[in-house]
Amino acid sequence: MAEKKQIFGTNGVRGVVGDSMTPGLVLRIGQALGAMRPGTVAIGRDTRTSGPVLTHALKAGLMAVGCQVVDCGVLPTPALQYIVRDTFAAGAMITASHNPPEYNGVKIVERDGTEMGDTEVIALEGRLFRDEHVLADWRGLGTEQAAPELVERYIDGILAHFPKEVGAGTTVAVDPGSGPASLTTPALLARMGCEVHTINGEPDGTFPGRLPEPTEEGLRPLAELVRETGAAFGVAHDGDADRAVFIDDRGRYVEENREFALIARHVCQRRKGVIVTPVSTSQLIEDVAAATGCTVKYTRVGSIYVARTMLGLIAAGIPVAFGGEGNGGLIFPDHQFCRDGGMTAATMIEVLAESGRPLSALVDELPPYHFISERIRTRRPDEVIAAVEAAFPDFSADRTDGVRLAKGKTWALIRRSGTEPIVRVMVEAEDRAAAEAMRDAVLKQVAPLTG
Ligand code: MG
Repeated sequence: MAEKKQIFGTNGVRGVVGDSMTPGLVLRIGQALGAMRPGTVAIGRDTRTSGPVLTHALKAGLMAVGCQVVDCGVLPTPALQYIVRDTFAAGAMITASHNPPEYNGVKIVERDGTEMGDTEVIALEGRLFRDEHVLADWRGLGTEQAAPELVERYIDGILAHFPKEVGAGTTVAVDPGSGPASLTTPALLARMGCEVHTINGEPDGTFPGRLPEPTEEGLRPLAELVRETGAAFGVAHDGDADRAVFIDDRGRYVEENREFALIARHVCQRRKGVIVTPVSTSQLIEDVAAATGCTVKYTRVGSIYVARTMLGLIAAGIPVAFGGEGNGGLIFPDHQFCRDGGMTAATMIEVLAESGRPLSALVDELPPYHFISERIRTRRPDEVIAAVEAAFPDFSADRTDGVRLAKGKTWALIRRSGTEPIVRVMVEAEDRAAAEAMRDAVLKQVAPLTG
């Protein structure tokens, strides 16, 4: 059996439609998934123009091997994960998340609502490459059922975590980016009592307003809407709404590590335990842990490693407080074990209601750590990592993913890319001068090994 994933990446399989992403491939994924997880499979899709074609292919594959299909239609990835959990044999989401409109892909969801892990994905790919499935005969073929109403379970599930009308008197601006959260986040926040203004709020796979990745540049119109309406904040999602990013009440983009810190602090004030996050996250999360009596556990980079580590700790009897990444993908363990953009937007309402302060003030009170990220071209990533580690003997070294060197308020992460001949260097320190000094010291070690 193969030991590495061949076509699946960290978050499913993705490609350009009509090139590496085809109905034929998705049909084979459906057959392999149906053979591996027989039973009733829930499926959904984001708003891409290729969504209907690939959905038909997925259904054909699943039904051909005898699975029953429940088609939830257009909905966020975390909504499908919530629906699948403990109810279906598996789930499959047709989405390319934050990628441009020409891309699409498939994310596989396990019965527990998490994304399928590496070992199972390798097994699924093996079945796909070997055509290892049994086609049903005419009596054994699966059937399909449309269930667009199931998304309401997800909205109700989020609302159940908050006091009724906690958003009363709060004005918010929402930018679902023409993605599936068009159908969930504005309705969710309205049901919390908020006055909701929406931009890019119609599902549209041509993405006329902005691309699926919510960048500071792409969110300028949302920032404008925040200022015009006097909103407490603006919230935007990526193309499948597992992430949420924010604009503060002054129209400024909130860097995602700051978002993570503010929401983690809110959750950890009442829920104690471990905060799980990748080694690439800002030390702001260490400050939050120290202030709330929690601890931090680092994982490899990738939300699935965060989710699986959280589940592993809980299975070992260790309490878990919170999890997530410094990219707006936050995991609320009392809700579900995957990134959830809708839950993140809803929690921000409660953060502001309880603090009684504007988001801009909360952001500005956080320590002004300075963060630098670089990409270095090299064909010798392991030597680069070893050289840097050896050059900083008085730093602690965490080898969870590449090496993360830390001393006082300065840390550096040097890790290889899974897909390109590069290493990524990330540095954070108390201020710009300290961060630049550390970056220069790291790059001095790297220089002889580049190219
Ligand atoms: Mg996403």
